[in-house]
Amino acid sequence: MKLFYYFRVKFKLILKKFCIVPSFCKECGRNVHDFVVDDNIWNKVGKHIKNGHVLCYDCFCEKCRHAGLPDVWRLVKH
Ligand SMILES: [Zn+2]
Repeated sequence: MKLFYYFRVKFKLILKKFCIVPSFCKECGRNVHDFVVDDNIWNKVGKHIKNGHVLCYDCFCEKCRHAGLPDVWRLVKH
């Protein structure tokens, strides 16, 4: 699946040079919806993104987990 994601990102990066494409995740290539992240969290996660600074929520959660920030993405009320 990661190979598919890789080629989807590369394909959209090429497509973006020639025409307008919707904002897409620079990790897996899917189209994204906006979500809000605290700047302190984004600074810890953003440096791990290749090819740009847009992530879908799933990839953001994975990056948080790798950065040791699992509590950031849980959808539970504190
Ligand atoms: Zn993604």
